[in-house]
Amino acid sequence: MKRGSKRRRGDYRALYWGLLFALIVMQGCSATDPSENSAADKVEASSYVVFEPGNMPLIISVAHGGDRRPEQLPDRSCFDAVHVKDEFTIELALEIQKEFAKIGKKPFLVINELHRSKLDANRNRAEASCGDVNAIAVWDLFHQHIQESRAKVQTMFKKGLYVDLHGHGNPKQRIELGYLLYEDELALSDEQLNSEPLIEVSSLQHLVRTHPSGLLHSDLLRGERSLGSLLHASGYPAVPSAQDKAPLLSDTYFSGGYNTANYSSYKGGPIDGVQIECNFSGLRDTEENRKAFAKAFVLSVTAFLEEHYSERS
Ligand SMILES: [Zn+2]
Repeated sequence: MKRGSKRRRGDYRALYWGLLFALIVMQGCSATDPSENSAADKVEASSYVVFEPGNMPLIISVAHGGDRRPEQLPDRSCFDAVHVKDEFTIELALEIQKEFAKIGKKPFLVINELHRSKLDANRNRAEASCGDVNAIAVWDLFHQHIQESRAKVQTMFKKGLYVDLHGHGNPKQRIELGYLLYEDELALSDEQLNSEPLIEVSSLQHLVRTHPSGLLHSDLLRGERSLGSLLHASGYPAVPSAQDKAPLLSDTYFSGGYNTANYSSYKGGPIDGVQIECNFSGLRDTEENRKAFAKAFVLSVTAFLEEHYSERS
């Protein structure tokens, strides 16, 4: 089962729309040939993607926080396109960057500034862009920066963590951590979570297979030193964690999307990943709350990296 889609039951529908979309693109490709776009209609992709190289084994991307809607880009209308942006997630990432700077650290940072109605940077290229040439150029650059950051982290630190930062509108005001495991899988026993079939679909699988102290998959997902538990201890409830082991089947919960599936160790390599879905109230809603969360994020992620990714771990 391919990971990175919100719900398994949507897979067949996505496949149907994907095939239909491919047919339409093939039939209409003379009309969408990039070479026929006039220069005046082209946007400069680098004007819409922020990239900051880092000095630590952490990469943060923000796919859905943008507010810019250049008129050259049509509104997306393919695949039941979602247009709702993740409010204040760019502002949140910048606060996190400032907080890391206070301790001399700099995460790799990749931000899509386009509004989600123009580009959804947490979808595959066709669905993200709906075939628009300009949207494709921005998607390419955004994803190129993430891939380059992963290569740099691997060269500099041998291993690391990729965070795709989002904001959810679900009623429960808690952080949702997506490791590509669905609600019913997170509800399994520790023993089942530590079995090969569950490890091999996890975005933390490199860490599970190489952990120097031998911590298990279940420990890393919801043990005392898991990211969820560290965030909880900093005052921000999170699922999964020791305090909230799994979402209910009736909850709307984000298990991780395209970016987490493609840029974590689920696809191989030594960079693990997590989609962090931040709640709104008390976290993203005001500048003061974003600053407070940035402090907790830096404390929690620094502890997580030191525990599990440093030579001492
Ligand atoms: Zn999002």
